[in-house]
Amino acid sequence: KPQTAWTAVEDFLTDTVVQPDEALKRAVQSAVDAGMPPIEVAPNAGKLLKLLVQISGARRVLEIGTLAGFSTIWMAKGLPDDGVLVTCEYLPKHADVARSNLDAAGLGHKVDIRVGAALDSLAALQAEGQEPFDFVFIDADKENNTRYLDWAVRLGRPGTTVVLDNAIWEGAVLDPGMDEVNAPGIIGALELMGNHPQLDATVIQTVGSKGWDGFALAVVR
Ligand code: SAM
Repeated sequence: KPQTAWTAVEDFLTDTVVQPDEALKRAVQSAVDAGMPPIEVAPNAGKLLKLLVQISGARRVLEIGTLAGFSTIWMAKGLPDDGVLVTCEYLPKHADVARSNLDAAGLGHKVDIRVGAALDSLAALQAEGQEPFDFVFIDADKENNTRYLDWAVRLGRPGTTVVLDNAIWEGAVLDPGMDEVNAPGIIGALELMGNHPQLDATVIQTVGSKGWDGFALAVVR
């Protein structure tokens, strides 16, 4: 079965190359223990985020969709010690679990968790006159993907890296009827990334423990 093989290969890659530490394993387990959905990025994708943060030389990261802080920990690891990561999460329970995981990872001092609807938190960041973000990771409610992309451009600067998760959604990009809630937001985001005058983007399809999916990667012009 492809899914069994994809998961087995991913487990091998996780053990052999990615090697998540105890804090990252704790974050995944804490979400299970708290009855949260297991919808964090796969370990190899988390490590990719960390490497992209490092490669881009980011000092300020914005995340939309925290869950238990698994991707947050990965990205915070890619930041310098005085780097800043602002992460937006709707549910207070998720934010509490993430806070505890980030503190246990020794990364809490870099991370500002904004609880509430991300669209409100993003408007607040702009109103506060925050410095531009160097790296933006979008992984929350897919219906708002295009709005989050607009915010990434607005809160970024030329050269800001933007990563959008769940870009393929088991092929729902070609068959929106498969998921009428999420597919339109994903398709809209891909169209916007293709057409936006300030975004230069590509999309990578992936298979693994999370099934058939992918991510879009863009740079703000
Ligand atoms: N990025 C996380 C990771 O890889 O570890 C996974 C994030 S999970 C896919 C999506 C998260 O977005 C959930 O915790 C959910 O509560 C949150 N969320 C959903 N709608 C939101 C909204 N309107 N504003 C902020 N967060 C939202």
